[in-house]
Amino acid sequence: MYDRGEWRLHFVCRHEIDPGPPGDEVAGVDLGISNFAAVSFGDEGILYPGGALKEDEYWFQKERAKCDDSASAEAVRLDRKRTERRSHFLHALSKDIVERCAERGVGTIIVGDLSGIRGGEDWGDSGNLDLHGWAFDRFTQMLGYKAEEHRINVEQVDERGTSKSCSVCSTKDGSQRVERGLYVCESCGTVANADINGAENIREKVLPSLACDGGDRDNGWMAQPAVRLFDKSTGRVRPQEQVMGRKP
Ligand SMILES: [Zn+2]
Repeated sequence: MYDRGEWRLHFVCRHEIDPGPPGDEVAGVDLGISNFAAVSFGDEGILYPGGALKEDEYWFQKERAKCDDSASAEAVRLDRKRTERRSHFLHALSKDIVERCAERGVGTIIVGDLSGIRGGEDWGDSGNLDLHGWAFDRFTQMLGYKAEEHRINVEQVDERGTSKSCSVCSTKDGSQRVERGLYVCESCGTVANADINGAENIREKVLPSLACDGGDRDNGWMAQPAVRLFDKSTGRVRPQEQVMGRKP
């Protein structure tokens, strides 16, 4: 097809899908700026850093600033390329999350709904808000239809308060703190990755009984999430040690 001055070849692949019945497990997903997504399975956590998205954004902003005329062919080309790269990142991420969920027998994915906290003070500059507001909406949409192929439900819950309270003992009295990405609870002694704590709180929003077990569970996993990175050379998401070529 001919599209805005250039010929493009489009491929459409149709494939039959026959997923098994969905599992009973529930996963929680917390969206954020430094970790684009943190996923909690209740006994295991995975982080998806957003660095590749931010690096791209920075590069495109720089290149775009060199264009004198925002309607020029080069400016239009850059804008389209930027949108494609963003979309590709979000596709790769949502696909990986759904696959990891399907592997673990997850039947329901709970995603924090950020509409209530947009415009809050935690967002840094407005560039972050513009990019991530758009990206979170797109991501949640993609996660929904990719999950559907595996008969996994995606639900959104209000995520207000999920970064502040302790996912182990539910304490939210202000004695908790976040240091270098770690959430530390004085009440029960839990030390967790802050985004995984958030994701676990989101997960527990649909499992209210879990929050009352007073820390009898082993919570060591919360401090040691796996990290999966977007690999720019292949355009896929892989374990950090494979992308970096070494153990973290
Ligand atoms: Zn606690």
